[in-house]
Amino acid sequence: MAKEKHDMELRPNPRTGRYRLISANWKMNLNHLEAIQATQKLSFALRPADYSYTEISIHPPFTDLRPLQLLIDSDRMRFSLGAQNCHFEPNGAYTGEVSAPMLSRLNVSYVIVGHSERRQYFFETDEVVRAKVEAVFRSQMTPIICVGESFDERQRGETETKLRAQVDSAVSFLAPELAERCVVAYEPIWAIGSGVSAKAEDAQQGAVTIRTVFESLWGKAVASKVRIQYGGSVNPTNAADFMQLDDVDGLLVGTAALDPESFARIIQA
Ligand code: PEP
Repeated sequence: MAKEKHDMELRPNPRTGRYRLISANWKMNLNHLEAIQATQKLSFALRPADYSYTEISIHPPFTDLRPLQLLIDSDRMRFSLGAQNCHFEPNGAYTGEVSAPMLSRLNVSYVIVGHSERRQYFFETDEVVRAKVEAVFRSQMTPIICVGESFDERQRGETETKLRAQVDSAVSFLAPELAERCVVAYEPIWAIGSGVSAKAEDAQQGAVTIRTVFESLWGKAVASKVRIQYGGSVNPTNAADFMQLDDVDGLLVGTAALDPESFARIIQA
């Protein structure tokens, strides 16, 4: 069964019927002591009503997962635990890697798969991303599949082709009941960590392209359930512009999520 925390008080967006999801990708930042402090500060900064509108997932480095799991459980915090990556094999001679079953055992609900930094610095191909999507589902977690075009691809008018190819490769093998549970993050590579976000209309267009791939594979009913996040230089000032879009159901936040107060303001936006 899925481990998403759609607790009783979490309400779907009345316009779309989908649950919103805002995720903090801490990347390789915050040791386990800093992680505990940041999570406590975030919890203090949020009001009970903030959890009614959106699910919040925190994706710390692997070494922080166990302490955060204990903190979230013992203080009954309403955060979902996330990971930034996993290996596609369940176990074996893969020195330095962490598997999906290991994450699942720590109550991880969401795993980011195919982040552009992993594709760029760790040479993850579409085939590897696909295998990881399968591994995450096999361990009853939900993948957050990152896709996005580079600056040059956008300049050449290849955004749609790139998004279609990345999404198709990552999900086309899934059964419809898993396809509809996917979360896809549209993250234009040029917008990540650059301080220059996409325009709202470009984020909406990217989300529509992604949803259309699901529609062509499984039809409207499945496509309408898929949650799509926007990621790339989201901050407290621009967050609301993206959350109002028809096809954007949440945000994947890097830099601004490292500061609990600014991440809280994004959630409240
Ligand atoms: C990310 O790493 O997924 C991201 C969106 O980073 P930033 O918010 O810093 O652009």
